Amino acid sequence: MSLITPFDPWKGKLCTCPQKHSLSAYAGCGHGCLYCYASSYIIKFFSPRPKKDFLDLLKKEIPKVPKGSIITISNSSDPYLPLEKKYKLTQGMLEILKDYDLKLLFVTRSVLILRDIDRIKECRNVVVSFTLTTLKKELAKKLEPAASSPHQRLKAMQALSKHVPVVCRFDPLIYPLNTEEITEVVGAIKEAGAKQVITSTYKVKPDNFKRMTKAFSEYKELWEDLYLKQGEKLGQYIYLPKNLRKELIEKVKQAALNKGLDFSSCREGLQELNTKNCDGSSFF
Ligand code: SF4
Repeated sequence: MSLITPFDPWKGKLCTCPQKHSLSAYAGCGHGCLYCYASSYIIKFFSPRPKKDFLDLLKKEIPKVPKGSIITISNSSDPYLPLEKKYKLTQGMLEILKDYDLKLLFVTRSVLILRDIDRIKECRNVVVSFTLTTLKKELAKKLEPAASSPHQRLKAMQALSKHVPVVCRFDPLIYPLNTEEITEVVGAIKEAGAKQVITSTYKVKPDNFKRMTKAFSEYKELWEDLYLKQGEKLGQYIYLPKNLRKELIEKVKQAALNKGLDFSSCREGLQELNTKNCDGSSFF
């Protein structure tokens, strides 16, 4: 199969989520998140394009996927990119997938998902995972220039959570950019009807570090010290020092538990803190 591929083909030691497949109608992503990890392994990443013959190929591949499989849509892109307004491939994908016994995990930062709310309701088993990094409009605009605003995302979560389970990735935690607002962000996630908060800390890759330090030059020195001098190299990424990571992740966990939300860390080697799977799949 060429469209439906195994999630985490590299079998990263820090990944603890259940086995699943990935599916995306688009190659690359137009949301332009400065911290993005996928930009380092997909060519012309920030020039997203529809995959050729996507819906025809999907019709051929989908019957080969075992019943009950988890399909995550779309991890290294977003199913509701601005391009989707024109091409409607995610919409077409839903029309096909709704007839199959599959577990669909949507991962998005876009309010455009509300266009498909009726189609999503028709699918047998759906969890929607929103990502929210801050409540501050200006900061979000700088970090994720083409994604929906925090306010729009929360409103979309609220609307969807009336029909399907919604979880929220408060992710990545970028110290100290968004770590001062942990209680407020988790509170807003709860208000919006999500069931779980999933979090992880920002990890350095050469290309995302260049973008981040250019946009936030006031933190360049601090991040160079924390990541490049004191940080830990785990796989392809440089992490914050473990004590700081643990402190931040535990703060989010405490805020989540205080609000009666489930919690998980993602790829941090801290799975003992998790109350549910790290990707929202506990709610299928
Ligand atoms: S939405 Fe996801 S894939 Fe797209 S740029 Fe942002 S982090 Fe990268």
